[in-house]
Amino acid sequence: MKADFLVIGSGIAGLTCALKIAGLNPTAKIVIVTKSDESESNTKYAQGGIAVVLDAVKDSLDSHIKDTLRAGDGLCDEAIVRVVVEEGIDRFYDMLEQGADFDKTENGDFALGREGGHTANRVVHHKDITGFEIERTLLNAIHANDNIQILTHLFVIDLITDHHVYKKKIKLGHNNSCYGAYTLDHRNGEVKKIAAKATILASGGVGNVYKNTTNPVIATGDGISLAYRAKAYVQDMEFIQFHPTALYEPKDGQRFLISEAVRGAGAYLRDQRGIRFMFKYDDRGELASRDIVARAIDSELKISGDDYVVLDCSHLDPIAFKEEFPNIYNKCRVIGVDVFEEGIPVVPAAHYLCGGVVVNEFGESSINNLLACGECARTGLHGANRLASNSLLEALVFAHRSAVRASELANQLKEQIKVPKWNDEGLTIPGENVLIKHFRKEVQNIMSDFVGIVRSNKRLKLASKSIDSLYEEINELYRISKLSLPLGELRNIVSVAYLIIEQCKKRKENRGVFHNKDL
Ligand SMILES: Cc1cc2nc3c(=O)[nH]c(=O)nc-3n(C[C@H](O)[C@H](O)[C@H](O)COP(=O)(O)OP(=O)(O)OC[C@H]3O[C@@H](n4cnc5c(N)ncnc54)[C@H](O)[C@@H]3O)c2cc1C
Repeated sequence: MKADFLVIGSGIAGLTCALKIAGLNPTAKIVIVTKSDESESNTKYAQGGIAVVLDAVKDSLDSHIKDTLRAGDGLCDEAIVRVVVEEGIDRFYDMLEQGADFDKTENGDFALGREGGHTANRVVHHKDITGFEIERTLLNAIHANDNIQILTHLFVIDLITDHHVYKKKIKLGHNNSCYGAYTLDHRNGEVKKIAAKATILASGGVGNVYKNTTNPVIATGDGISLAYRAKAYVQDMEFIQFHPTALYEPKDGQRFLISEAVRGAGAYLRDQRGIRFMFKYDDRGELASRDIVARAIDSELKISGDDYVVLDCSHLDPIAFKEEFPNIYNKCRVIGVDVFEEGIPVVPAAHYLCGGVVVNEFGESSINNLLACGECARTGLHGANRLASNSLLEALVFAHRSAVRASELANQLKEQIKVPKWNDEGLTIPGENVLIKHFRKEVQNIMSDFVGIVRSNKRLKLASKSIDSLYEEINELYRISKLSLPLGELRNIVSVAYLIIEQCKKRKENRGVFHNKDL
């Protein structure tokens, strides 16, 4: 298959980018590939909303910039922060034009929520299902667009680069180009190549590198691993944000998120003996930034030996709560938790990757004709810690910028390069599922036990040794087995684990969400 533009991922970043490209190139062929059904993504589960300065009286661009810089703990790229905060307002209005519905107050203004680390109310939302509303809106717009084709259940295996086209040995850096991707239709095992003039990675996060995560199962860091194998620069992988308040349930896996907006609405964190503990850690109490709240809960749990702490909502207005957080209220009701009587049992869980594929201010990676936007990209906005609700904003701004640059790059190319077919000759042995499952769990256990919220030199050393050996085992399994989705994901998960550990070992000071108790 040939396309002018190949977009990998159908979350907020991929869909927005494809729509912008279509607007700029009305006759181009744009293909979106996505590995599950079209709406499955981190985006779909976003609750709190999008941070954007809409109240000119009580808020300002400068205070949003300041809050972002403070959360990022000295490692944000200030120019990028300014770009995202300023351009974010136009991108938000673009979403409204596409038909997105955000909550309003009685007098018709946007209802602006407050989340941890923000000094003003600036989070626009659609009840507590903002991401669902965003996906609905963008997918409707995509379906109405004749030059965008969306192909579901296609798993991108590898990017096509000079390594495949010219059999060139490639090195880390700027001497490589991307010509599209090899994909696996995991419903029938067929491998397809998709050649493209410009390829945009919008493949989301890495939550499933850990045992417990707020991310859906598809978040396996594929884009980062693809780019790393193609020798792109990948940075800031040590900055994994753990959300402080995921709903505690006794099983591992995807954990339901209890939005920060619940603390914004006034809920208190208490230990199981009823003691409110956050002011011991920060004078902003429950509204301190996520890293501080997550570490505080982690520390309380280590001291008490309890499995969870409690988000006390007993003093909140039940009618307003049900109105504002219907999804959270229903989820708790279904599992038998009475929000107002006993409070919500919560624990931290892996949530968001601040780093990723390094891109410049136009979304370009270090590989020619490969761009990245959304959670898989490292733009410099978040530094050492993401401010709540800044990621949807970043995705909107960088999807737009990537679309503009991808259009310029594709239009400079006169001819498309011929790309070779995928070679899987001789690979007929199915990867044993028992091994694949076992390895996936092993990686997740190592990462959760040794590379979690609080790290140490000893734990990183142990993790490094174990992941290095698993990396070899898994790559050997990959080399001899017929490709499947679980095997492809496993290969990516172990690469991402490796990158996180290596970059943790290199960081010699505690910043933002990175905390090594030996530093
Ligand atoms: C529970 C939850 C709540 C959140 N709440 C908020 C919030 O309130 N505000 C905020 O700003 N942020 C929030 N976030 C973070 C935010 O939702 C994400 O950072 C953002 O949606 C990422 O968008 P994306 O388009 O980059 O990736 P995603 O939305 O994750 O989309 C990635 C896409 O790539 C596809 N894909 C991945 N790998 C491959 C492959 N190998 N081949 C083909 N397709 C592939 C996936 O199938 C998916 O379609 C939340 C995240 C979670 C999990």
